[in-house]
Amino acid sequence: MANELELTLRTEISDNTDAVVVNSKLSALELEIDAAYEHAPFGSHTLDDDGIFQHINTLELAWIGYPRDVLIGHKSFLDFLTPISQIIFQKYFFNNTTYGPIKNLELDLISIDGTVRPILLNSIGVKHRSVIFDMTQAKQHDEKQRIATAAFNSVSGMFITDRNGIILQANNAFTSLTGYSEHDALGKSAHFLSAGQHDQAFYQSMWESLTELGSWQGEIINRRKNGQIFTEWLSISNVVDVHGVTTHYIGNFIDITTSKAAESEAIRFAYFDQLTQLPNRRLLLDRIARELTNAKHSGLTGAVLLINLDKFKIINDTLGHEVGDLLLIEVATRLSNISSATDCVARLNGDEFVLLLTKLDAKPLEAAAQARREGEKVIAVLNAPYQLNGNKFYCTASVSIDLFSESSNAVELLQHIDFAMVQSKKTDHNTLCFFDSATQTAVTNRAIMEAGLHRGLIKNEFTLYFQPQVNQQRKFIGAEALLRWQHPINGLILPEEFTPLAEDTGLISPIGQWVLESACAQLKAWEKNELTMHLQLAVNISAHQLRQDNFIAKVQQLVSDSAINPALLKLELTESMAFNIEDAIEKMVAINAIGVQFSIDDFGTGYASLSKLAKLPLSQLKIDKSFVQNIGIHPTDAVIIKTIIIMAYTLGMNVIAEGVETEAQKAFLEYYGCLFFQGYLFGRPMPIDEFEALLQTN
Ligand code: C2E
Ligand code: MG
Ligand code: MG
Repeated sequence: MANELELTLRTEISDNTDAVVVNSKLSALELEIDAAYEHAPFGSHTLDDDGIFQHINTLELAWIGYPRDVLIGHKSFLDFLTPISQIIFQKYFFNNTTYGPIKNLELDLISIDGTVRPILLNSIGVKHRSVIFDMTQAKQHDEKQRIATAAFNSVSGMFITDRNGIILQANNAFTSLTGYSEHDALGKSAHFLSAGQHDQAFYQSMWESLTELGSWQGEIINRRKNGQIFTEWLSISNVVDVHGVTTHYIGNFIDITTSKAAESEAIRFAYFDQLTQLPNRRLLLDRIARELTNAKHSGLTGAVLLINLDKFKIINDTLGHEVGDLLLIEVATRLSNISSATDCVARLNGDEFVLLLTKLDAKPLEAAAQARREGEKVIAVLNAPYQLNGNKFYCTASVSIDLFSESSNAVELLQHIDFAMVQSKKTDHNTLCFFDSATQTAVTNRAIMEAGLHRGLIKNEFTLYFQPQVNQQRKFIGAEALLRWQHPINGLILPEEFTPLAEDTGLISPIGQWVLESACAQLKAWEKNELTMHLQLAVNISAHQLRQDNFIAKVQQLVSDSAINPALLKLELTESMAFNIEDAIEKMVAINAIGVQFSIDDFGTGYASLSKLAKLPLSQLKIDKSFVQNIGIHPTDAVIIKTIIIMAYTLGMNVIAEGVETEAQKAFLEYYGCLFFQGYLFGRPMPIDEFEALLQTN
């Protein structure tokens, strides 16, 4: 509007020669404009030729902060400009002889209190009238915009998504890092870069962090457009509106693939042997320390095995280092192949390797036996011939072992096996030894006994003794078959000495099978004699036997093959065996279905619940001898005996007491209703001839 007015006026000036008329017309117009602009939302002033204020509107006056009368006719507009703005303004104002318009002059106005205000000045020339816009806000916005643009064009990849994670904007670095152009990415979920390496829980925790903390950062594995996987360090932050509601997310990432690779290379270097790629001493110590702690919590134990090649130096010297290296690699492979996933194979140095065994049995002797078996496996696998670089040769190995229970820390364990190796190598090669000499002796004895049990089975060294079971009138109603090992050198060995080892090695199954067969044969033999045909024979069954899948079939087979009366065969199980294992119940029911009887041995020492007991097909409870022997000594044991007897009758079973040695014990048991007895009072376990002879006199 100002420019139109100006044009009209100029036309009028040139057309009209009467300057006085024109000037008064102009002045009238100026006044009209002044009035119109007085309360405008922009600044407005007129200056004379020297730049002195002629008029100023309310808003601009407020910006400057001077009283109007001090300003008008006295102060120059230049007085309220910053030095740089003064130079700019002077250039336009004083050189503008043609009264041409001034367009969008960016100046800084200073108020009386020193505040600087960015303004945009437009002048229409006539009487130097200007309109002024306050640019403070626009400037700020502009500044932010410039910073944002610069940031967005940084070297780190950036993208902006809406609240649903849909990409709205992506920068150049995004393209150079991912291979996707901004156009490729727009409208897609930020998830489209995923390489599928993170699970649901990972993204879940990312979203949780974004909602709760407003940001997330971490490593994330993504896939480039060319299919390549890369690791990025990603920071995401929320953009919220004035109400605190998330409107956008800004993602910012850098590619850390190379630094990751360098990092893992450094780890590989520090913790792994470069030749064999096995863990080195450092990592091994770490693993042992961890396993020592685990062992304390789990109750299981572990062992370390030091493996030393017997002839490595000779092979290295004669066949060359290249073959030596290949041998070490081959040894590493063979050891790794035989070790289980939880074990650890490491290379200590030179030709020394360590096998760390975990999860060994809690019983030290059994753990030692397991470690010995592993050690023997190691020796066997390393003794196999090597075929390397066209050379076929043998290289035996020696093994020294230390159990976790012998040491409290990793370093000590390694010292032990090292010491044991040095000692053993003085006299022997290609053998296995323990650091602890007591363990060594025990393990050796065990190994001897294990071999003996194998031999005993083949050579028929086992035999059954029979201990009478009697009624209240001391009449023999049957016997318990008790196993004995007639050792060729050591003489008669009691079951307590060898059954634990037989259990651990699984040999109890063939031995138990032999016991069952012999018992059935005995029952068959008794059938023929009137004096013995009614005798019931009790046979002890081990937990290992009962666990066998084919146990039911084996018993059924035996009963039918031997054609005995199944009711005369009584299987003795212990409380813990029958009640811990669910499938024991199933097996007992199946076996009972063919008529075989069950008795619970050592009753009162286990923790069977009454409800479980009621579910079992039992015909008898056998009171443990420890209670019987405490009759008259421990009053509480007497209470237990009374309770067991009442319980048995309540559940429809009979009761037998074992370990009865005195008349007083028998009398007490009888008084409380126990009808059957077994113990030295009536006869010790004895060979079949003695048993049958005693029966004659009975
Ligand atoms: P068990 O089944 O509780 O057998 C009773 C044990 O008590 C027998 O020991 C027997 O000799 C002993 N004994 C009997 N009367 C008396 C007595 O009046 N006083 C004392 N102090 N002891 C008495 P044994 O023969 O040494 O057998 C020990 C354990 O070995 C048996 O305990 C049984 O658990 C196991 N066993 C024996 N034979 C076999 C078998 O064939 N197979 C299996 N798996 N285990 C067997
Ligand atoms: Mg028994
Ligand atoms: Mg017993």
